Amino acid sequence: MSLEPILPGSTIGVLGSGQLGRMFTIAARRMGYRVHTFSPETDTPTGQVADQEVTASYEDLDAVKKFAEGVQVVTFEFENVPADTASVCAEHTLVRPNGTVLHITQHRLREKQFLMRSGFPLVPFRKVSSSAELETALKEIGVPAILKTAGFGYDGKGQVRVDAVEDAAAAWASIGEQEAVLEKRVDFQKELSVVAARSVRGEFVHYGVLENAHHNSILDVTMAPANVKSNIAQKAVDLARQVMDELDVVGVLCVEFFLSWDGQLRINELAPRPHNSGHFTFDASVTSQFEQQLRAVCGLPLGATDLLRPAAMANLLGDMWDNGEPDWAAAAMFPNVKIHVYGKLQPRPGRKMGHLTALASTSAAAKGTVLAARKAMLRRVEEQG
Ligand code: AMP
Repeated sequence: MSLEPILPGSTIGVLGSGQLGRMFTIAARRMGYRVHTFSPETDTPTGQVADQEVTASYEDLDAVKKFAEGVQVVTFEFENVPADTASVCAEHTLVRPNGTVLHITQHRLREKQFLMRSGFPLVPFRKVSSSAELETALKEIGVPAILKTAGFGYDGKGQVRVDAVEDAAAAWASIGEQEAVLEKRVDFQKELSVVAARSVRGEFVHYGVLENAHHNSILDVTMAPANVKSNIAQKAVDLARQVMDELDVVGVLCVEFFLSWDGQLRINELAPRPHNSGHFTFDASVTSQFEQQLRAVCGLPLGATDLLRPAAMANLLGDMWDNGEPDWAAAAMFPNVKIHVYGKLQPRPGRKMGHLTALASTSAAAKGTVLAARKAMLRRVEEQG
């Protein structure tokens, strides 16, 4: 593997074209890199800020080859890219993180089996490939449980809660009768994450432990730092480091955890890329998770991860557009709040359209501010027209 750094002026390829690619591209262009993005869509969040937007199917391997030939390194902002796409890229240029990381983390079952084999703490789960297997798994694991499709799931998509063994057939039908994982539904104290980066030389940095609140299975608010005891924070960081070493990741990876009431950490899932819970780093850290991804995939030394001020991030979902465009000016009234808008053309319920980050003297105060700013943006029905 080449350890030669890829320097400013070079061109980076990004597979995927959403907000993660957009923020990565902003960081890369600031440092003088060119960015090409590849996805099946046009006028995308990433494409709007990239040097070149290639619109083609991930299965169009000729287009993938041409794209890979035009860049010094390929990275991902979206892990559900077909394995062949990554391997064609690897025939023509560097791919970071490598295709194996993608292959494991894009599939819940493979990811959980990998984590289990390596001895990481997990929520009890079973592989399920039929209604009958689901029934057995429900009896073994117990209810309530959550059935999750093995592939192509995110933000709670492809998931259904199952409260009784008798509901097996209906649950199986509701996820489209596809390979799945049944998980015990856990009653957790908090959800936490660690966003970390690993360089081509195995150097490791992290952004501490973050505290996440979800709404309808979608991340709603992140607080940095998390309000947890230092031994728990240290354990979470150690686990993230072990996962990254084991997977030989080059780039940013996020490990999401459940913290049980008795202080046990269990890994919920991995994301082999910058993560929504690390968005605060754009405004609140010496090096953002996006610049860190750039540094890692370009073979540069990693940047400092110091938190400049405690922060909180709140997502802006498409639901906020129900009564028209949100009141951006109202958010701008908050001097310690940063507004991020992703340039998506269609607001839809549950779709991530942007986020706000607030900085304050504590992460709890930042949370209060970010929630107040978000609330101020909501238009009341009587304001319409
Ligand atoms: P996931 O897509 O698996 O990360 O799930 C999205 C969210 O659903 C999580 O962040 C949790 O809030 C909730 N969730 C997922 N799995 C479980 C579980 N086994 N027990 C309780 N809550 C869960």
